[in-house]
Amino acid sequence: MISLADLPLRDDLVGQEPYGAPQIDVPIVLNVNENPYPPSQVIRHEMAAAIVSAAGTLNRYPDREALGLRGDLAAYLGHGLSAENVWVANGSNEVMAHLLTAFGGPGRRVLTFTPTYSMYPEYARNTCTEYVTVPRHPDYTLDADLVLGAIAEHRPTVTLITTPNNPTGTTVDLATIEAVLEGSDTLLVVDEAYQEFSSGPSALELLAKHPRLIVSRTMSKAFALAGGRVGYLAAAPAIVDACRIVRLPYHLSAQTQAIARVALAHSDELLAQVRSLAAEARAFEDWARGRGYEVIDSESNFSLFGRFPDRHRVWQDLLDRGILIRETGPAGFLRVSAGTPDEMAILRSALDELSPPLE
Ligand code: PMP
Repeated sequence: MISLADLPLRDDLVGQEPYGAPQIDVPIVLNVNENPYPPSQVIRHEMAAAIVSAAGTLNRYPDREALGLRGDLAAYLGHGLSAENVWVANGSNEVMAHLLTAFGGPGRRVLTFTPTYSMYPEYARNTCTEYVTVPRHPDYTLDADLVLGAIAEHRPTVTLITTPNNPTGTTVDLATIEAVLEGSDTLLVVDEAYQEFSSGPSALELLAKHPRLIVSRTMSKAFALAGGRVGYLAAAPAIVDACRIVRLPYHLSAQTQAIARVALAHSDELLAQVRSLAAEARAFEDWARGRGYEVIDSESNFSLFGRFPDRHRVWQDLLDRGILIRETGPAGFLRVSAGTPDEMAILRSALDELSPPLE
């Protein structure tokens, strides 16, 4: 038997572990900001029919440009966008990997503002891009001075702003994003994975005026399609062309393209839960504040609350009651995704049972 230590693993990967949130089979799963509502029977049957139809051509490679799906995504986004403005891959994880493969690499930097999404350092590492972080303000917000100061200091090729941010749920307004675009020449990726849950406007509004802006989105959250693995970006066609250079050939399977197009054809039904999920998260935050927890203002489908002297113990106590949430974010905080009303009621009772909830 050969072990990892015997293999010529890249030097910078030695000692690294595969990263990911625990996948544990418990009744209430609220740890990875998924949508708790599965697709309806009607949508499931249409997806199945679309896959049967795609299966009839599985001897052939899929459309490597995914032009039909990119056109549907452009129509969903609006703002005068067309297929040539959109790039699509296996989750926005892969979109980000394409961006850093094309624009990062040895000798280049990507800048993010912490605390933020825990996968960004992995995309940077995998693409041999230097990962630079600058802390957000103490209330986890960003303003143009902070961002432009960090860009002037670190000279990143790519800057990443996440809004609503994961894990804090805090947003960055369009005036700040516009000031960053006007005050620097960085490629600015605005990760809007949770935008549909927010009441604020999308950075898509700025695309026509700012060719260095890239807006990243996903179907994993609002479209309840995490298992389908579909993420996408909207940008100038030249940015899309750069992604097309580095993508693996035929990266998006025929089945993935087929089910994503069915989901988009039913966007009204799938997006109908977005408002109620955001409301469920806000209601949990109100409840938590009422119980004396510290809660960060979120505009997403998840909440960050604390501060627990021993958050791991609380995480474990909840898991022992069949509830999986996420141990992430600033010290002492836990993150919980909005579930169904029943799931959230069970979570609230469980938190009340923990004795004492806050020490
Ligand atoms: N960006 C952010 C901020 C996220 O929180 C996530 C998922 N947790 C992603 C991107 C990636 O999502 P996906 O690959 O499922 O599209």
